[in-house]
Amino acid sequence: MDFALPEALVAERDRFRRFLTGSAFAPALAARRAEGFLDRRFFTDLGDAGAYGFALEGGRLVHRGVLRETLLFEEFARVAAGAAIAALAHADLGLTALWRFGSPALLERYGPEAAAGRAILCLANTEAHAGSDAAAIRLAAEPDGGGFRLSGAKAYVTNGALADLAVVTAVTDPAAPRRQRISMFLVELNTPGIRRLPLTKAAWSPSDLTRLEFDGVPVPANHLLGQRGRGLAQVLRVFTASRVPIAALAVGTAQGAFDLALAHGGRRRAFGRPLLEFQAKAFEAADLHARLEAARWMVWRAAWEADRGSEPRAAAATAKYLAVDAARRVTQWAADLFGAASLLRNHPIHPFPLDAWAASLGEGTQDVQKWVIFREALARRGD
Ligand SMILES: Cc1cc2nc3c(=O)[nH]c(=O)nc-3n(C[C@H](O)[C@H](O)[C@H](O)COP(=O)(O)OP(=O)(O)OC[C@H]3O[C@@H](n4cnc5c(N)ncnc54)[C@H](O)[C@@H]3O)c2cc1C
Repeated sequence: MDFALPEALVAERDRFRRFLTGSAFAPALAARRAEGFLDRRFFTDLGDAGAYGFALEGGRLVHRGVLRETLLFEEFARVAAGAAIAALAHADLGLTALWRFGSPALLERYGPEAAAGRAILCLANTEAHAGSDAAAIRLAAEPDGGGFRLSGAKAYVTNGALADLAVVTAVTDPAAPRRQRISMFLVELNTPGIRRLPLTKAAWSPSDLTRLEFDGVPVPANHLLGQRGRGLAQVLRVFTASRVPIAALAVGTAQGAFDLALAHGGRRRAFGRPLLEFQAKAFEAADLHARLEAARWMVWRAAWEADRGSEPRAAAATAKYLAVDAARRVTQWAADLFGAASLLRNHPIHPFPLDAWAASLGEGTQDVQKWVIFREALARRGD
């Protein structure tokens, strides 16, 4: 067993850290955060920086490794989880679904542009009445001529405001058993009949959260991703994979808040000493450090499993569960340490607890992770 990170990945992580904090990207990111929205340049800058998990080799899209991604997403979330999630939704939801299930023709047509961040992707699955229970979606895909027509709405779509392409789950076979009703499509979002309704949210700024409405939207048959009737299993596979980078994003959210709090707690004096010299606070910090370390190692373990070619169902759910748990505890503690200042909207610590809360929802709530952990790791023990 080797616990050392590969040197090449550490170098890439350090390079990405410099890109985030020491290049022209840093002031542009600060401006986007102040304005509260992202532009297309954000996605191409990240593409140029190699921030997405994909590269083009001989015109073919290849994955650059999940461990690499976790290192980059942790760095990104330390400074701006709300921007990191937009990159994640593009690369690890939309593009991953296209990469795994798209035909060679679709990959050839959209892959290179998407890998460079010039075509922006999103994944639209959740509906107003169907979140955790993904099989309960109702958006209909009715056969029409050689293709399909989509009607219905997706409630919460990250990047929905800007994206060119959406991976959309829809019911193609309403009479089929629950697990065979749904199919997955790649939809061009400039198609007539689509309405985008941006929502106002309190976390993960400056990424957008958008409702997408489909009114008889034509989709050609060759835009079906994977197999008809296998859309639920396919989207769940995408979520299993993206749980690893989003867990890394949660670890980064926790680490960013922890760094700010430790610096503050060493400086801020009360009752004659720095806050962290009170044993109560020091022990709380030690407890949180231990939780954060454990979560990070679990994220790396899940990434290692994925990089070895297996689907890390139990490990990814465990990693996300521990990472979100650590992030919620650490960010709340960190905000408390700043006292009243933490509630000022422009204070650096202010977004962290909200971003940790948001991380608890993406790719499944804590209850959903527990369900997966039980099913994948415990339910079979009697077999
Ligand atoms: C900022 C943000 C970005 C998002 N981006 C996207 C996106 O890009 N694409 C997309 O498709 N979706 C997206 N979502 C939606 C997200 O995936 C869902 O919010 C999430 O899956 C939970 O679904 P829900 O909100 O409908 O809650 P519900 O499923 O209604 O759950 C409500 C509560 O009930 C609990 N619960 C549900 N079922 C069970 C059970 N069987 N046992 C025990 N407890 C249970 C849940 O844990 C939760 O606490 C986003 C959400 C947010 C907040």
